[in-house]
Amino acid sequence: MKRDTRIVKAGRSPLDHHGVVNPPVYHASTILKGSLESFRDGDKTPLEGVYYGHFGTPTTFAFEDAVAALEGYDRCVAVPTGIGAIAVPLLALLSAGDHVLVPDNSYGPTRRFCNNYLARFGIETTYYDQSIGGGIAALMTPKTRMVVLEAPGSLTFEVPDSPAIIAAAHAHGAKVMMDNTWSGGVYFAAKGFGVDISVQAATKYLSGHSDVMMGTICMDAALHRKIKRTQIDFGYSVAPDDCYLAQRGLRTLGIRLERHQESALTVAGWLRTRPEVKRLLHPAFADCPGHDYWKRDFTGSTGLFAVVLHDTRQEAVDALVDALEFFGIGESWGGFESLVSHPNPRKVRTAVPWTEAGQVVRFYVGLEDPLDLIADLEKGFNQMAAIG
Ligand SMILES: *Cc1c(COP(=O)(O)O)cnc(C)c1O
Repeated sequence: MKRDTRIVKAGRSPLDHHGVVNPPVYHASTILKGSLESFRDGDKTPLEGVYYGHFGTPTTFAFEDAVAALEGYDRCVAVPTGIGAIAVPLLALLSAGDHVLVPDNSYGPTRRFCNNYLARFGIETTYYDQSIGGGIAALMTPKTRMVVLEAPGSLTFEVPDSPAIIAAAHAHGAKVMMDNTWSGGVYFAAKGFGVDISVQAATKYLSGHSDVMMGTICMDAALHRKIKRTQIDFGYSVAPDDCYLAQRGLRTLGIRLERHQESALTVAGWLRTRPEVKRLLHPAFADCPGHDYWKRDFTGSTGLFAVVLHDTRQEAVDALVDALEFFGIGESWGGFESLVSHPNPRKVRTAVPWTEAGQVVRFYVGLEDPLDLIADLEKGFNQMAAIG
């Protein structure tokens, strides 16, 4: 089956549900058994099958099966948020005294989790220069058990040499967890590259409509038990209605991503010609650090990228952003509507300080007509010029 066929077919079996096309929503806490014997049987394998509402229902399993099939792993575990999908494997696989390597350009709350929680439990985090490649071997200690990857980085979009980092981690006996949200699990084949655990904020592209919070953790069978157990022990179960919405969003993932890709390339290409823009941080353009790795390792790009402006003034960004009509001002991305935000990488970096003076503006290109978006941005730049 080719990718788009898998996206449409995976995790559904209509004939098991009176021919209903989509998996039905099962609301459940109690799961009744016909006899005490079958209750005891179920108790032997609580992490498999329908056992107790908190452990998942057929609605949860249908969504998880669909995402596992999309990413090519044996199993998927759904959790209530993207950050939960990052926290659970770290908690499942690390113990006091262990060491984890995390890229310096990673998603802010990932750093927060490492600094505020892993540290309290005696697990040490080292932030590495995302351009380090195979050089990461030098940062590994006998206690290094996990290496985190994010490609591209959250605010500034540098693309790492993933195969070199993965190879170094495995040579050391460490597991690799990747935040694969940007590619939607579609344009970067984490499993093919040997990533042990591929996580996504399903809040973003997988659900795709700005109305669901969810995270997905994909892994092979050998790691499933530990990760599922941790999810259950922390009480991170997902609501069946959210699973339903997320699987409904998933069915159009292929065509949505193609449109996000095409429109973002159009908008980014236009931004690149603007005199106000100093540098375009979009992995598919040569200006972006790691562009050659993107070309080698990815099969496409998506809707999220940033620019560095020549202007160093906050007022200039305020004028630009406040003038925009079609780019909403708000957190998150991955929905159908365009968004703009104003990150400050200077505040978060520790391994490789961000020294570029110009203001950074992050754009998420939604499913609107890109020509409307470009006209909107032109209006924003005019407003920026008007403040002198
Ligand atoms: C949004 C995001 C997350 C976290 O997702 P939530 O569902 O908001 O918790 C994780 N990683 C990346 C790259 C994200 O953009």
